[in-house]
Amino acid sequence: MRLKFLLVIISMMVCAHAFAQPKVIPLNVEGATAYVGGFEELHHVYVSLDDLAKGLGLRTFVLQSSNKTSVYSDTGSLLFTPSNNFVVVSVGGRTDVVQMPLPALLANGKLYVTSESACDLVTRIANGALTYDAQKSELSFSQSVSITPQITWLGSESKENGAVIEVRMNALPRAYEASITTSGLGGQPDMLYLTLMPAEANVSRLDSTPPTSIYSEVIAIQNPNSVQLSFKLKEKYASKQVYVDSSSNTVMIALYSQADVKKIYSEEVKKKLEQEKNNWKLDVIVIDPGHGGKDPGTIGMRGIEEKNVALAIGLDLRRDLNKLLPNVKVVMTRDKDVFVPLDERGQIANEAGGKLFISLHCNAMPHKPNPMHGIETYFLRPGKTGEAIRIAAQENAAIKYENDYEKKYRSYDADNMILTTMAHSAYVKYSEQLAQLIEDNVSAVASVSDNGVNQAGFYVLIGASMPAVLVETGYLSNPREAAYLGSIRGQRAIAKGIANAVVKFKAEYEKNFTQN
Ligand SMILES: [Zn+2]
Repeated sequence: MRLKFLLVIISMMVCAHAFAQPKVIPLNVEGATAYVGGFEELHHVYVSLDDLAKGLGLRTFVLQSSNKTSVYSDTGSLLFTPSNNFVVVSVGGRTDVVQMPLPALLANGKLYVTSESACDLVTRIANGALTYDAQKSELSFSQSVSITPQITWLGSESKENGAVIEVRMNALPRAYEASITTSGLGGQPDMLYLTLMPAEANVSRLDSTPPTSIYSEVIAIQNPNSVQLSFKLKEKYASKQVYVDSSSNTVMIALYSQADVKKIYSEEVKKKLEQEKNNWKLDVIVIDPGHGGKDPGTIGMRGIEEKNVALAIGLDLRRDLNKLLPNVKVVMTRDKDVFVPLDERGQIANEAGGKLFISLHCNAMPHKPNPMHGIETYFLRPGKTGEAIRIAAQENAAIKYENDYEKKYRSYDADNMILTTMAHSAYVKYSEQLAQLIEDNVSAVASVSDNGVNQAGFYVLIGASMPAVLVETGYLSNPREAAYLGSIRGQRAIAKGIANAVVKFKAEYEKNFTQN
């Protein structure tokens, strides 16, 4: 009966999504099976948030006016918006905006998200992990045994200038405190006390922890809400410092022989920084030549089309970057005269693991010829000045070449702009730096004047989860500038200027994470 009901819903849904293949996805929870409605579209499996929440015993709330859907657990909530990539995630009093690779889709009044996003997001708020097995086409939820952090392993290691004691756990405690006491009496060992809260421990197993070169004995005490570990130290230490590694749920206590704190710190933390640094390595650059195919962009003096200028500069820029930064991968959202929807450009960038997104365009005044000239570089933020709003409206108009664009971009309203800007806030500083470098470097090598950095709400910048700028390389409505932008010489000079800016930006950007 239930299955039949689902199939009715799914077949109705197919009307909304022409390429969708309906699916019923089993959801295994602790030996029982529930069924989740969904569909497959362009190699992605979408699952119904409503069915998923029901199957997991989570609560949902749907705002009737907008179909915004909240999913609640005891510890947090997720807020999804139709046709929108951004999810508001609240866990333990902290609120973040998370960007899904693909937007939530509304079909027959219900919201659907990809199985990947569903697993990632539900696991953040549920008491366990949700996984999707693509081969078997089924979801599984494995409940955490306990949400109280448990000590799983103790260890220690001698260091050049001291020692490190490691306490591994299955989750990090909210609070921890360490102290060293010196007895002052001959023969009495110094003690290291570590309190973890909340935490649970198998006390008898910890008490029989074998001695190491650092400590001779461990005494564990389970309090109602905390665990205290007492280590009998073999040597005297001048000071200690506690570090927490959230990727491995490890509490580390560095013990320093002398007050030389720096040395052990750098040894232990260097590895972690190295990993962190790799995340920040500017190893993939995405070039996005604006418009293309059926969308010519603005048409300037002597019929010069924006799409052709943007592509020519993009191809020159790729060649320059390949030469200047041979270890960096350069990805293009288009390398020929084809139409690419605005939201797909961001997806291409994200899927390629892009660390920098440069969208290339040309400006024009509504009436030509017009003397206005110069290069302007934008980063994402709802437009403030009339001019920024005009240019954003002009570039955003490219969506009219996309099928059902009204539905697709409807949710990019003022509310969502705020969410978007929040999600991008981590990149704003870098986007602004790059924008300024582009202005300086292009005007230094090309015959275009520097009109400065500006902010505006460009759809194409919304989708890219990385520092992102949009360059209006010049005005096609200005006869002299149109001729320059249409010439190989002009295109090469502008590309060279942008490439120089990227090289300088990369050096600055990576420096932020090589210090310490
Ligand atoms: Zn454009």
